[in-house]
Amino acid sequence: KTYREMDASTMTTSLVPEAEQPPVPGLQDPGRLTQKLTTAHMVQAPWVAGEGWGSPHMGPYGKIALEPTASVLHYATESFEGMKVYRGYDGKVRLFRPWLNCQRMNKSNARVCLPAIDPDQLLALISKFLAIECRRWLPEPGSHLYLRPATIGSGSALGIQRPPEALFFLFAALFPQSSNGPSPGMRLLASDSDLIRAWPGGFGGSKVGANYGPAMVAQAKARENNCGQTLWLFGEDRQVTEAGASNFFVVWKRKDSDTLELVTASLDTEVILDGITRRSVLDLARQRLTKDSADLPQGFQPVQVVERTLNMHEIVEAQKQGRLIEAFVSGTAMFVMPISEILYDGVNITLPRTVGKDGTKLPVSKYSSTIKMWLSDIMFGKVEHEWAYVI
Ligand code: PMP
Repeated sequence: KTYREMDASTMTTSLVPEAEQPPVPGLQDPGRLTQKLTTAHMVQAPWVAGEGWGSPHMGPYGKIALEPTASVLHYATESFEGMKVYRGYDGKVRLFRPWLNCQRMNKSNARVCLPAIDPDQLLALISKFLAIECRRWLPEPGSHLYLRPATIGSGSALGIQRPPEALFFLFAALFPQSSNGPSPGMRLLASDSDLIRAWPGGFGGSKVGANYGPAMVAQAKARENNCGQTLWLFGEDRQVTEAGASNFFVVWKRKDSDTLELVTASLDTEVILDGITRRSVLDLARQRLTKDSADLPQGFQPVQVVERTLNMHEIVEAQKQGRLIEAFVSGTAMFVMPISEILYDGVNITLPRTVGKDGTKLPVSKYSSTIKMWLSDIMFGKVEHEWAYVI
């Protein structure tokens, strides 16, 4: 037998008639908060070692049957992606830089011995699913669905070995919509050195399930401390890596000059995930917020964009010296969210604040809210941009 690549053109369907599909919940439906609402369909594709991928099938959303001996249930042979699909103000349906999600999925699959999927075929498959599903499930301009493609080691494998079989699946979930208004910001709890998310040579740079289960202890601790996410630190020098399932940025004034910098952790040690929103924040900042940029908005001091090791000591010092200007996180789920406070070894580091229209205090977010608006304009088609992929 010859090895078969994933082939989106062979997708078969068994669709649920419209009249039998559940009603589409409104954007304000509280069910959207439970993260249990999905659309009516899902896609599945089987893979067998030596043979390759079988034809994908789009059928009703429902349970997956696995043997108790399935590799994923014991050895976390799982990888996934998280992306959103947007209904633009012009009525068109768009993905945001989906090529990067498809490439990242392959990197993740490789890290846990799951089969490769041709990124172009993965994008074609996602597009076929969305072309059907968005007609009914994504009606409102300015709203989005969350997409979850995943691969699991589905074959029976009690010995520690490459999964002999795998299953790819894809579904869409109805999540709360991100708001465009001013954000009260999020508090972060900096992690203690007994809880480490990722380490050089590990797998923190891959989107594999094994990264997320063990992180939930820290997430619960963050919640107990009235924080939204964990700020993951690493190493003796308490390097700031990322925050929850988002990347982390600061805007500050350099110690030795009046130059402003936009700083985030560099990718070179595999300790942080190469976030697509992170990349896009950096790309836009380099194009539109630096010294020589023709697009630098009025009233903005240019920034230098820096990817480097960043540690808590530097943030504490910048705050004490009044050089800290903004901190924010970026990711598909959180989008771009300002940070109001960081709780670090029992001490609150408060970011600069301004007073909102109704008198409430808000974290300063001049840079982050501008970048957020630029991204949102691309996602919802307010501007034409090569990062948007129209379905
Ligand atoms: N870091 C981690 C650990 C994540 O899981 C995610 C979400 N994929 C991110 C950062 C942000 O990545 P993206 O911008 O691609 O959503």
